[in-house]
Amino acid sequence: MFDVAVVGSVNLDLVATTARLPRPGETVSGTAYAEHAGGKGLNQAVAAARTGAVVVMVGAVGDDEAGRRLRSIAENEGIDVDTVVVVPGSPTGRALITVDAGAENSIVVIPGANSYVRAGSVPDARVVIAQLEIPLDEVIAALRSARSSGARTMLNPAPAQPLPDELLELCDIIVPNEHELELIGGIESLLGRGVGAVVMTKGAAGAIVTVRAGTFTTERHQPAFQVTPVDTTGAGDAFCGSLAARLAAGDGLESAVRYAAAAGALATTIEGAVPSLRTHATWRSSWRSTNRRAAESRIRGDAVPRRPSRRVSRPAPRSSARAQRGRVRDAPRGSR
Ligand code: ADP
Repeated sequence: MFDVAVVGSVNLDLVATTARLPRPGETVSGTAYAEHAGGKGLNQAVAAARTGAVVVMVGAVGDDEAGRRLRSIAENEGIDVDTVVVVPGSPTGRALITVDAGAENSIVVIPGANSYVRAGSVPDARVVIAQLEIPLDEVIAALRSARSSGARTMLNPAPAQPLPDELLELCDIIVPNEHELELIGGIESLLGRGVGAVVMTKGAAGAIVTVRAGTFTTERHQPAFQVTPVDTTGAGDAFCGSLAARLAAGDGLESAVRYAAAAGALATTIEGAVPSLRTHATWRSSWRSTNRRAAESRIRGDAVPRRPSRRVSRPAPRSSARAQRGRVRDAPRGSR
């Protein structure tokens, strides 16, 4: 049994840096070039593994050099890649990223082999997490397979798109950022359509955790940890991967979210996605020095994050689908 199964994309990110982004039809000279492992699936698998979880990845790569490199990068992180299949005749997924001097970017994603992920039979894991960079039908199949084997299910709905009730009813926990939440319908609507808990991430403003518990919902604010961000790429993936790992380790939702918020904050202090993800050991030492800086700033009288706010409870939104079935599922394990 694995701690975490990640069902999602595996990409090679090709990053060109230029003074300014080219206009349509224009060619500009670049100033730097780099290649990184990427794809939300792989990023979150690495984040979970570096948090200490035993991780399996379900995904697909092409039969090419990029695919071989990415599989071996995942293996070096201790991730089981037996279910990362090699798709003949399709390129490994790629993201072509151009970044200008002001950190503005433009991105073209070529899904390639990610379009051929088949996830109807996910290996046994305590927590199964998926994103939306693979076909929607496969995300549904993955979470259905996870539910039937008793796993806790998580969805990071990125990139956002309208989601069918069939999928939402399979989500114990959904983790959108503010923009994604707007596109998929808002907290009340998600809880009303069958989601167990919504963890909305809000960048430097932390996260809001809303849990359905019987006929009530409880809401709690997790303040962000104070850091000096260098590059916020990968904060959401660090958050999701760490959250899955800590839930698999037996933490309750509140304490897993607190850990995830710290992992998200630390990920903003180093450039890139995968390079900014911390292992549990470096997390502890990074955090000690970050706490020292926070203590120093307290002495200087700077603003410091508030302690978690008190919970508020209010009646849960009605779920017409559930009312018809005459039952309400309990809040997810460990979420209270
Ligand atoms: P995404 O990358 O998906 O847009 P967010 O930007 O909301 O996700 O970041 C995920 C989490 O990482 C946040 O909920 C927060 O806990 C942490 N985080 C992100 N940016 C910062 C920041 N500037 N300072 C402190 N924590 C941050």
